[in-house]
Amino acid sequence: MAGNISKHFYQAVANKTCADFHHPGKTCLQAVQESAVAGLFGSLKFYLPLCILPLLFKIKQWNEKKTWKEFLINYCRCVFSGFFITTTGFWVFCMSYKIFKGFYLPLSVCLPSSLGAVFCGIMPKKFVHIDGIGLFNMYIEFIIKQSKQKSIVWLRNSLVGATCLYSFFNSVMIYYLYKIRSNRFWFVNIGNELKAIKRIENDSGENIMNCGHETSCDEYLKKEFKNISLFAFGVSLFKLIFPRLSSIIKNPGNFMKNIFKKFDYGLLAFLIVSNGLFKFTFCRLNQYGKFSRDVNCLIAAFASSIGYVFYPRYIIFTMGITSIIEVLYKYIEHTYVTQNKELPEIMKFINRLPCSELLYMFSIGMTFQLRVIYPHLTNKFVHKMMSIGSGGRSDEVTKNYFKMMVGW
Ligand SMILES: [Zn+2]
Ligand SMILES: [Zn+2]
Repeated sequence: MAGNISKHFYQAVANKTCADFHHPGKTCLQAVQESAVAGLFGSLKFYLPLCILPLLFKIKQWNEKKTWKEFLINYCRCVFSGFFITTTGFWVFCMSYKIFKGFYLPLSVCLPSSLGAVFCGIMPKKFVHIDGIGLFNMYIEFIIKQSKQKSIVWLRNSLVGATCLYSFFNSVMIYYLYKIRSNRFWFVNIGNELKAIKRIENDSGENIMNCGHETSCDEYLKKEFKNISLFAFGVSLFKLIFPRLSSIIKNPGNFMKNIFKKFDYGLLAFLIVSNGLFKFTFCRLNQYGKFSRDVNCLIAAFASSIGYVFYPRYIIFTMGITSIIEVLYKYIEHTYVTQNKELPEIMKFINRLPCSELLYMFSIGMTFQLRVIYPHLTNKFVHKMMSIGSGGRSDEVTKNYFKMMVGW
């Protein structure tokens, strides 16, 4: 079906103008002005929860001025960036129609968004990195959803198959994060295990047989389990409340009535089981096992993968694919640095490239094109993100394209 839609693109847009596609009944200038206003308000709305989320992890620093100042600066940078990305995207859309005298894939749909995304440079680098990878994951999701290859079709429908593959991603990810002592974001947080190994390494070998916790293993596990549960509950609550903020304000009674139905128990179980199993297995293996800590870490990581069955979502799976590429690259880099060797030229070149920004530009362009042409195969988050960020204009473009397709 996806292929058919693509073939029909040129048929649908033949003899159509940028007005038919983007702004029926309005001039290009009027459309760009409207996009600018919609983009500003859309960005104010879209980036608020994204900037509030990191604040939740800094609850102990809420009394410090620095925390709020950082929040405000990050929020302003994101809003300005979002405003320029949306406005430029729609402006280049009209411009490309005028320059090329028609619509061409990917020049007319993907390229304008990608060019607009140049302004991601205004955003804090961390946001560009996370958003770029997140959107790229949704592009991989599209590839998996539309593939007709037998192995991928099987994987799409098999929870056992997807869990096995996720186990591989998850184990490799945790093992190498532990090896390079990196506390990079992953669904299983190994921050305290890294602190423990540092304690052991700084302890001149006396404590080498224990786990390196400050308290007994049982006490450590109890405390960790409590913290994991609180964190998982907080994340699930955030997922429940933020997308519904406006409807909660309008009708709090209705929200309260459905609160237990809408709560994401799968996400809660995924985070608790993955983290809990890893920490428990790692601790027990270090205490009673005969293998090295690295091997114990790999076994514990593998055991923790079972958490995936509670939340078998594309976003978790695709995150595994992109994250192991990143962590393996970091591991190779780490190996060169620890052996005091010079990095190969190709790695030096890659490190000089603005990789996060390029990935962000590519992903924004591709996901916008998919949102318009293959809306049924695009992640719902892309629909929401583009709809909120552009003040509903991306939905209009999709609707107009659909009308052109069916010949209304
Ligand atoms: Zn136009
Ligand atoms: Zn222990």
